[in-house]
Amino acid sequence: MSREIPFLELKDLHAPIMGELETAFKNVMSESSFSSGPHVEAFERDFAEFVGASDAIGVNSGTSALHLSMLACGIGIGDEVIAPAMTFIATVSAIKYTGAKPVIVDIDPDTYCINPKQIEAAITEKTKAIIVVHLYGQAADMYAIRAIADSHNLVIIEDAAQAHGASIGKTNCGNMGDLAAFSFYPGKNLGACGEAGAIVTNDRSKTEKIRSMRDWGQLGKGNHFYEGFNYRMDGLQGAFLGIKLKYLKQWSESRINVASLYKNLLNKSDTIKLPYTRENSVHVFHIFAVLVSNRDEILKKMKARGIHCGIHYPTPIHLHNNMGDLSHKVGDFPVAEKVSKEEISLPIHPSLSEKDVNYISENLKYILDSN
Ligand SMILES: *Cc1c(COP(=O)(O)O)cnc(C)c1O
Repeated sequence: MSREIPFLELKDLHAPIMGELETAFKNVMSESSFSSGPHVEAFERDFAEFVGASDAIGVNSGTSALHLSMLACGIGIGDEVIAPAMTFIATVSAIKYTGAKPVIVDIDPDTYCINPKQIEAAITEKTKAIIVVHLYGQAADMYAIRAIADSHNLVIIEDAAQAHGASIGKTNCGNMGDLAAFSFYPGKNLGACGEAGAIVTNDRSKTEKIRSMRDWGQLGKGNHFYEGFNYRMDGLQGAFLGIKLKYLKQWSESRINVASLYKNLLNKSDTIKLPYTRENSVHVFHIFAVLVSNRDEILKKMKARGIHCGIHYPTPIHLHNNMGDLSHKVGDFPVAEKVSKEEISLPIHPSLSEKDVNYISENLKYILDSN
């Protein structure tokens, strides 16, 4: 009997909290607090506390959060910013928005995050910052990266769009660099019911600048001090996120639980590379990434059995047409290229049942064995 298992199921996630979300909607409607306002401010306080940092600044997307993080550090034309070859395109496009040049570095073959051993060689006198992506929900190797950044006087910006609640020891992602950008795109571990993002930092002077820049660079009404943007967060999203944040810990635990079920069911297969979790760290499994050979064939067979998987990401950053100006070619970043060819993202979300995880794993094993 064939079943349909979607890659992501937001309806099931929202069903148990629908009453709370509806109340939030009615409150915002009755107050008309549609842009910024008290619900956004309350969420900013709660989210900063969740991360353990002093400030969070709500914006309209993770991409805007990355852009403003760099602008707040004075990054612009003539500067270089280091970023990994395997990430969502926004990480690197945001560098270009500032006028700076992205400098791409390969990833670690186990964690798939930026490889610290290759950062040093990419640093020039123009380098201003390293953007670290906590890919798939696992923190990058921050100890090594911090040491490199400090010895070259570089800023670290965390792209924590996939890592809400991930940590190393007692330090959460978002509290490991100088500034962090979060996305609350609906499919992220903490998602709005629409678009949203936030910058998190402990640097008060940057907080003030970012708050101003997201709102047309104003310092007081009508006084446009900085070059600014309309990057404000919607009132509705602030209200929805405030409610959903209360459940994030529980949702992360469910994801971690699904991940260990997968690992137990799939670890006897030697044709599959399972995700590696670094010691003393919490991986929140935004993506459960496995590597297989002849990936496209396997994906097709999974789909025929009603199992909808994803690929994160089918093309490494340096081989996208819109990165042509960086003049890279096939072979420049072999680890990222290998992941782009072999990665499958198995369905993972807080409401995925044990029965579904069994069904997915059994089918994957069958397909791999008969391949
Ligand atoms: C989702 C994502 C972004 C962009 O966030 P948006 O809210 O969609 O703008 C940036 N970086 C990474 C790694 C992401 O996964």
